[in-house]
Amino acid sequence: MTAPNIKLHKGDLPAGLTFPNGVAIDTETLGLKPHRDRLCLVQLSGGDGTAHLVKFDARTYEAPNLKALLADQNTLKIFHFARFDVAVLEQYLGVVTTPVYCTKIASKLSRTYTDRHGLKDLVGELLGIEISKQQQSSDWAAAELSDSQKSYAAHDVLHLHALKSKLDMMLAREGREELADKAFKFLPTRARLDLVGFEEDDIFAH
Ligand code: MN
Repeated sequence: MTAPNIKLHKGDLPAGLTFPNGVAIDTETLGLKPHRDRLCLVQLSGGDGTAHLVKFDARTYEAPNLKALLADQNTLKIFHFARFDVAVLEQYLGVVTTPVYCTKIASKLSRTYTDRHGLKDLVGELLGIEISKQQQSSDWAAAELSDSQKSYAAHDVLHLHALKSKLDMMLAREGREELADKAFKFLPTRARLDLVGFEEDDIFAH
């Protein structure tokens, strides 16, 4: 695999970046509870082999360029398990991310032959690329990120455009594009339900 082009930014994206083919986004936090575990890193890629890493110091979440991108109705934001990232981004940046696409939901709606919907599983099966999840639980608040942290963080966004292409074909094959689209539109609401305390409850259950 060729080494990705990784650009590290402090506190915000530089001005003037555009993502005409949509932008893949992932976040790294101090844990899995958005109210407790703060946002440390936002990774972004236009699907061109470059990853932008935006690192946040504690309690400094101005980031006007990133916020504008997240809310830009003309730029599709591509996530893997968007439910978590969209909740974290709303909690810390105060922005509802929209429109969104989620490769995990696309996978669940189209790859019903398996229960393996993790990013590593998808990238391995659909793209033939091995990615490591070794740095997943490392200290993302460290003053200086290690090279392996930066590489890990970049690989969580570098493959999402290619995955989306494959999954879109599978959704079309199974006639579930519209269902997926409606699930994606509901995602910001699902994330909000998590933030206000309905994370365990299925409000549609009897
Ligand atoms: Mn990640």
